[in-house]
Amino acid sequence: MKRCVHAPDIRVSEAVERGYAQSCSCGGTLGDAGARAIGASSGALGVAAVLMRASPRVHRTPRYVREHSGREAACHRSWQSSLAELQTRGSMGPTVATIPRKLVALGAKPSVWLEFTPLAAALRAVNLGQGFPDWEPPAWVAGAAKNAVADLAPETQQYARSRGHPRLLETIADVYGRLRFHGRRLDPNRNVLVTNGASGAIYLAISCLVDDGDEVVVFEPTFDIYMGAIRLAGGIPRCVPLVWRAPPRAKVANEDATEPASCAADWCIDWEALREAIGPRTRVLMLNTPHNPLGKVLTRKELEQLAELVHAHPQVTVVSDEVYENIVFEGREHISFGTLPHMFDRCVSIFSAGKNFSVTGWKIGWMIGPEELIQRFHAAQQFVVFSVCTPMQVAVAECLAEAERRHYFRELAALYQERRDQLVATLRQSGLDPIVPQGGYFVVANFGKLPGFTNQFPAALSALEGGRVPGLEIDDATRHRADYNFARWLSFECGVTPIPLSAFFCERHADRANTLVRFAFCKQSQVLEEVSRRLQRFRDISGR
Ligand code: PMP
Repeated sequence: MKRCVHAPDIRVSEAVERGYAQSCSCGGTLGDAGARAIGASSGALGVAAVLMRASPRVHRTPRYVREHSGREAACHRSWQSSLAELQTRGSMGPTVATIPRKLVALGAKPSVWLEFTPLAAALRAVNLGQGFPDWEPPAWVAGAAKNAVADLAPETQQYARSRGHPRLLETIADVYGRLRFHGRRLDPNRNVLVTNGASGAIYLAISCLVDDGDEVVVFEPTFDIYMGAIRLAGGIPRCVPLVWRAPPRAKVANEDATEPASCAADWCIDWEALREAIGPRTRVLMLNTPHNPLGKVLTRKELEQLAELVHAHPQVTVVSDEVYENIVFEGREHISFGTLPHMFDRCVSIFSAGKNFSVTGWKIGWMIGPEELIQRFHAAQQFVVFSVCTPMQVAVAECLAEAERRHYFRELAALYQERRDQLVATLRQSGLDPIVPQGGYFVVANFGKLPGFTNQFPAALSALEGGRVPGLEIDDATRHRADYNFARWLSFECGVTPIPLSAFFCERHADRANTLVRFAFCKQSQVLEEVSRRLQRFRDISGR
């Protein structure tokens, strides 16, 4: 079967088998979704028709739960009144009485991923929403995993110690002590804990530091799992949005010299709002540098100012998510908060093998911090997962040592910088205004100045609801939100899926993301080229 050269990554076999495939002008074959995605005529069968026939019905969350329990307001209502209301409505059945308050606070509304991941898959759109590299890990990384799996010794195949495999603990203490913590002596059995990915570390830290009713300060936009961990711990998030302030040096003309270039550094901490947010009930200050989604890398000056605040509030611990530590651009330095004077004892830093070695599926993370905190987290980990995948820990130990021998992280940063530049150029040519990241693997772009887009829930998406696309769930509260509708529109019209940025804000601040979406650039160069081709349609619509 000849494949369409305009949409090479579209898998058509399923559509062809079912007789739903169409031909493109190049003579290749593609499914209806593909035909739409590259702008070919939609023909007799619409994408909705294809998907309606192809997909089984799926269970959906009851409307009442989506509308009421998931809203911010529900977090602040008393459990008794929520429960009484639910029981009066009688729509939840008897099991509702067993739902603890923290789960109600977590909300039952579908997450942004439950809409855009199935939607992108169903449309065969290029999914730049989810952040995982689509390339193979380096051969020596894969080799380390193969060797570890092939080593049949019990210390490689059976439960590791719950603190971590001794080999990995020692390697982390050695490498991070010398390179990241500027020569600090880290004790592998006191200052390090291996976790189930960085996500496991974040959950552990928050659940061990936060009691019911305690407050956690987070900067917005914020990586969404923080909010989940805070609510599951019974905590209350205090959200402090970063504010856009363009300093004079940021007014550098971009390629077509018509717009000022936007840069992640222009998103600044609102110090007044932060001071107001930190109070006697604050237990944790969440930091994330390099930042997901903006790509901001906190400067030494910003970190020093933060350290002053932390110093003034002895009850506060900093949880510093540094998973993009080695993905920084233009030779920038990533600074761990724990390296600031007197801050090692006030902070736990979190890292991830997934990001460092392009193996997000391995789920190996680690925390570095003072003995007092690490021991507490270790004690808890014994009763949660007990221990983390042993052969992968052995492989990561090998990878960390090998990365140092090869100066691998320079290579990694250079690779990502190239991809960033490629996507930033495409977005600019398409009339989107990218906020150029200083680190990480996402770029946020502003679509506010584009003609041709109107804030409407796409009719084609309505046609796909009701279980016609497996796993597709839509949060009703987002139906009128411009950033969501833009991400939906781009998926249908151009076959490129970003993530709406309001998903990274609380309800109260969601309007700040009205014209912003996030694209991942951890994708192969040819995929980003395909994105550029698909966005050509976008350029046509907006007359650029
Ligand atoms: N923190 C941030 C900021 C992230 O972007 C991610 C992954 N998207 C994680 C933590 C989770 O890392 P891991 O895959 O190691 O759990």
